[in-house]
Amino acid sequence: MREIHHLIGGRQVEGQSGRFGDVYNPNTGEVQARVALASAAEMDSAVANARAAFPAWAATNPQRRARVMFEFKRLLEAHIDELAALLSAEHGKVIADSRGDVQRGIDVVEFACGIPHLQKGEYTDAAGPGIDVYSMRQPLGVVAGITPFNFPAMIPCWMAAVAIACGNTFILKPSEKDPSVPMRLAELLLEAGAPEGVLNVVHGDKVAVDAILRHPDIKAVSFVGSSDIAQYVYATGTAHGKRVQAMGGAKNHGIIMPDCNMAQAVKDIVGAAYGSAGERCMALPVAVTVGQKTGDEFVERMLEAARGLKVGLSTDPEAHYGPVVSAAHKAKIEHYIQMGVDEGADLRLDGRGLQLQGAEQGYFIGPSLFDHVRPDMTSYQDEIFGPVLQVVRAETLEEAAALPSNHQYGNGCAIFTSNGRAAREFAAQVNVGMVGVNVPIPVPVSYHTFGGWKRSAFGDTNQHGPEGVRFWTKIKTVTQRWPEGDEIGDQAFIIPTMG
Ligand code: NAD
Repeated sequence: MREIHHLIGGRQVEGQSGRFGDVYNPNTGEVQARVALASAAEMDSAVANARAAFPAWAATNPQRRARVMFEFKRLLEAHIDELAALLSAEHGKVIADSRGDVQRGIDVVEFACGIPHLQKGEYTDAAGPGIDVYSMRQPLGVVAGITPFNFPAMIPCWMAAVAIACGNTFILKPSEKDPSVPMRLAELLLEAGAPEGVLNVVHGDKVAVDAILRHPDIKAVSFVGSSDIAQYVYATGTAHGKRVQAMGGAKNHGIIMPDCNMAQAVKDIVGAAYGSAGERCMALPVAVTVGQKTGDEFVERMLEAARGLKVGLSTDPEAHYGPVVSAAHKAKIEHYIQMGVDEGADLRLDGRGLQLQGAEQGYFIGPSLFDHVRPDMTSYQDEIFGPVLQVVRAETLEEAAALPSNHQYGNGCAIFTSNGRAAREFAAQVNVGMVGVNVPIPVPVSYHTFGGWKRSAFGDTNQHGPEGVRFWTKIKTVTQRWPEGDEIGDQAFIIPTMG
């Protein structure tokens, strides 16, 4: 059985805890590898390595740090097929979608190549007589990232590429469900010239996470995962004096206006609701139709589109989406489908019970569609994270827009309309962090910033973009004065002013 080790101080290190996690192939339900689950002592060792590497890396000039990122980007591009295949085999995303995951990571590395410019401070010449003021953005020290299963290439890059480019040294604790891609990323960063200890990968579960949250030498933690754990990570990390950003779950709404291009909206939403088996925090699992005629037409067209989807092996180039990540997750999705039925929603398409010939033990689940879902239903309020679209009927835009605004999650949402004024008003008013206008999955490009509101994010600084650079650095402001000759300033007992 293949064993996945930690990567500490530039070397593969076998797990010492005696605990392992099974890594499944979701296409077949077979265990394909086992991954070491770290103890607190193993985390200590990784932090010690990162701490030893920090002074030299922080002192490496930003242009040289950027050169490592340029080379890392080149290597990721050269290895994209290998990475996509590895990702697909552990996550279950189809290959084209897996390439997209890697490409989104590469985009953030490309952003991090601009670090000499991004990390520049500000300068005021002659803020007072002979006095200049300047600021600098310094790295924090040893920092950590804890990532979910659903984007094993993109999300580690969101965190590690920006943090490391800023001069920090990094501990990555990837999801134990699909740990191989994060390991390859770390190996490629070493190959790109990052010194040993700059990026350490420590696999594990709650034990490793708790060791990160309590470690006195870890200065900042970035987390992405489900909301209850995000909230726990935020509360525990900040209680231990760390800077923390913790992104959580989502339930993104798409508003379907009567004046939208219906053919386009259906095409977009079928991909956004069912792509990657719905296992995206920016998926669109709720469609809110405005007006009965719009609702009826949308549901009929969506049913037709969803029935035409091919669910297949993640390696099948014809498949629209593959299996979900685990047997437990499949059972959870099926549980929510039953809950929707029990709560009185109208199940128009039932994806349960799908079996693929020759892959009967795979975690496949067909597309499901509920009509007449109501906001008081638990199956509407909770995140399902599967290939399930819930249609809520509204009569007006106001009524429709209140739904995402009042929902506990506030990651993304979208509006489909040809009315620019309505779209502009919606984007300005909705109580959600990322908005698409005729764009179903509005994941911002790497040089903008990613982050939701409400229970979709704890902490106030987003991922990547200039916000990411702010999260991974602290600002120092210097006020300097160089008196001439023997000049002695006035003794001042009042707060100095530049007046
Ligand atoms: P998860 O919360 O189960 O796991 C995330 C990380 O937390 C993993 O590294 C895991 O090992 C660790 N973890 C699990 N249980 C823990 C515990 N009890 N204590 C401490 N750490 C623990 O999430 P997941 O299932 O891997 O990912 C799916 C979730 O992530 C969904 O809710 C999805 O919406 C969310 N997500 C959010 C964003 C975003 O940017 N908002 C992006 C991607 C995914």
